[in-house]
Amino acid sequence: MNFQQRHAQQYADLTSPEVIDAVRDRTLVWPIGSVEQHGPHLPLSVDLLLAEDFGNAIAEGVSGLVLPTLSIGARSLPQSGGGLHFPGTLYLQGASLLSTLTDTLSALRHLPYRQLVIVNGHFENEALVFEAIDSARDAGYFGDRSVAAFSWWSLTRDEWIAENLPDFPGWHAEHAGLTETSLMMHLHPDLVRAQRPIHLDTPRSGIYAHPIDPTTFTTEGVLSSTVGASEEIGSRLFLHVLDQALSLIRTKSNNWKSDPDAGSDSVNA
Ligand SMILES: [Zn+2]
Repeated sequence: MNFQQRHAQQYADLTSPEVIDAVRDRTLVWPIGSVEQHGPHLPLSVDLLLAEDFGNAIAEGVSGLVLPTLSIGARSLPQSGGGLHFPGTLYLQGASLLSTLTDTLSALRHLPYRQLVIVNGHFENEALVFEAIDSARDAGYFGDRSVAAFSWWSLTRDEWIAENLPDFPGWHAEHAGLTETSLMMHLHPDLVRAQRPIHLDTPRSGIYAHPIDPTTFTTEGVLSSTVGASEEIGSRLFLHVLDQALSLIRTKSNNWKSDPDAGSDSVNA
């Protein structure tokens, strides 16, 4: 059975009288996504679905509860998501997203959870998610609880990339490319269309150039290559990230004791 086919317990399915006891000393997992163009072959929901799938699997692995996915994320930028040159993308301005994140963390502070895990699926969200956590920490919202936040791709090991993605273009350019296409083929094959656009001249990371000509940094909204995308790569990547996530969370639960192999026996999908 795949993790995504299991039913991790959903926070929002609880009733108000149930919630305090249900979250006491538990891990809360919060997926953060976006609604963003992902080329002609993938749906607008890629970033929110992948954050949700990883979030559900992580919650299953640590017997945690999953908070409702934050579906609208930060503004898509040209060099990492194609920008707003393609129809369909919805976004919050940075200040609005920061407020949404911090307000939610403020509301959660009243609950007796033990640990919060935030799983991000949208490149442009990351700095704002980290800033929100840092200001929530400053404001005392976490007390002595622990927090782990990451974008799912940040957990991939260099060795795994070298072995599985020899032409890896960098995560900023892996937009609607090989990894997202493969994960979607594995997790949501019914949502993946037949086209496989290729953009070989991938944009460089960390540069914003105006004026913008979308055809120079994307092919139909795709920033890199989709060649070789497969359900098999998607399955391997999903389990690799999940394994790393569970290892990170368990290590953090043990006061950051170094135990790089902690998650290696934890994935049994
Ligand atoms: Zn994406």
